[in-house]
Amino acid sequence: MVNDRPSLQDLELLAQISQMLTLRDQDRVLERVIELMANSVGAQHVSLLIHPDHMTEWQQVFVRNLASPRERELGQAGRLHFARRVLDQGLAGWVFRQRQGAIILDTKEDDRWVEFADGTSQARSALCVPFVFNDEVLAVLTLLHNEPYYFNEYHLRMTSIVANQATVTVRNAQLFTKMRQQQQQLEAVLHAAPDPLLVINDGVMVLLNHAATQLLGSVTGENGTLFLHQPIAQIAGDDLLFARISEIVRGEPQSGQTWSFEVRSEVLRRDYLVTVTGWEHPVDDNAGYVVIMREITQMRDLNRFKDEMLRIASHDLRSPLALIVGYCSLIELDTPEESPVRDYLDAIMRSTERMNGLLEYLLHVEQIKNSPLELHEDADFLDLVEAAIRNTTPTAVNKAQILETDIALDDRPHTAMNTVLIREAMENLIGNAIKYTPEGGRVRVSAFQQGDYLAFSVEDNGIGIPKEHLPLVFESFYRVKHESTDQIEGRGLGLNLVKTVIERHNGEVWVESEFGVGSRFGFWIPLI
Ligand code: ADP
Repeated sequence: MVNDRPSLQDLELLAQISQMLTLRDQDRVLERVIELMANSVGAQHVSLLIHPDHMTEWQQVFVRNLASPRERELGQAGRLHFARRVLDQGLAGWVFRQRQGAIILDTKEDDRWVEFADGTSQARSALCVPFVFNDEVLAVLTLLHNEPYYFNEYHLRMTSIVANQATVTVRNAQLFTKMRQQQQQLEAVLHAAPDPLLVINDGVMVLLNHAATQLLGSVTGENGTLFLHQPIAQIAGDDLLFARISEIVRGEPQSGQTWSFEVRSEVLRRDYLVTVTGWEHPVDDNAGYVVIMREITQMRDLNRFKDEMLRIASHDLRSPLALIVGYCSLIELDTPEESPVRDYLDAIMRSTERMNGLLEYLLHVEQIKNSPLELHEDADFLDLVEAAIRNTTPTAVNKAQILETDIALDDRPHTAMNTVLIREAMENLIGNAIKYTPEGGRVRVSAFQQGDYLAFSVEDNGIGIPKEHLPLVFESFYRVKHESTDQIEGRGLGLNLVKTVIERHNGEVWVESEFGVGSRFGFWIPLI
């Protein structure tokens, strides 16, 4: 390739190079392409400076003295040092700034050539071309020869053509490096997380962190890593923990949809708080679920202890409270109308009434949890939905809210359930939606049957709930503390009652919410 016109050999070389550029293992391909190119031009020394991405520094990817192949690549630090210097002061820097190729006919007579004291070549002529992508210089290729006046315009043109072709390869190699770095960072974060975490796509576990691999190993007695890329349903049969997750991830995932439930793994004899969140990529048509499991055995034991204490306290407090109310009534009888003592008595009575209300509520929940569930055979689900809507409509009307319904229960499904409790649960959810939605807002009640399940949900465009509170709102006495809820009265017991009732019917409650946008609460129960 020393003439001014492309010879058949040159054209063949270009064709060979474009074919090579489509191969995988881009780093190696690029190296071979450039070496081929340099050989055909007859260069004795070749170096490629590359910009790994916009954030990090330039690097010399390789430097090779083709005349004496013993000289191999420099170490990482050496490459970086060299790259900085030639880009600052040398020919490569000039080409980088001008974004155009250049030839130095005689290095002794051209200002753009800087001889470094520890330079590896005795070059007398040089050819240098940039790799430009979207107006940005991604790499700079330098070819050297020990004779002056060695390179000509034709060499420059041919080298520029190859540089243009190889630019996409450089770009891909950069993107690939960047993606690999990001993936490694993400993996480090996931593996460092102490809670087991799974990503599920189409029912298959596509990502497991270390904690999840260990958990799968303990549940199944096999090596946990074997379960990567396996269907979750495969483990589901053996343990309730995975059976529940498997059931949820059978549905179509939707971004932001969250299920949170507590479950005991009988195999491990431990309790877990499981959060399943749906995600979908708006553009890529890629969707799935992220499952996080937090071990809460100790917390649950404490909770049981707290429930037990509350139960005992509620029972034991009832009699003294009744006594206080009784004595207050007696004192009232003996107190003249105008006496200020009557005001004190009133205050005592109001407080004891509030305490009584609270005790009754606690005993009610404790009874639902621990007594045999009184079932009404063949109850009409639609009747209950309609009654709950009827009973809550006046409150919505008072707040000038629109109460919409979306009920698809034409077949009037009947099943065994405690109608009083289920209606109470429905009214609680509708009542909350009305309570936590400002005047003039919208509340939508939906009910439908899906296979063997009855589903009920309430959606509002109210104040919403910050994400970090979502897993806790079904806990007893839990209230979201925020300035938008400060003025709203409540005891943090309603949702706990709903959860207790629904779980006694072997169903499940769920919530999804966006702070400032609105909430959706719902439950499903199986048809018996
Ligand atoms: P409360 O008596 O406080 O309403 P609940 O157990 O019914 O108790 O609800 C617990 C907490 O969950 C509430 O204090 C509130 O912060 C939040 N919450 C419940 N329903 C909604 C809703 N529809 N919109 C926004 N926040 C809600």
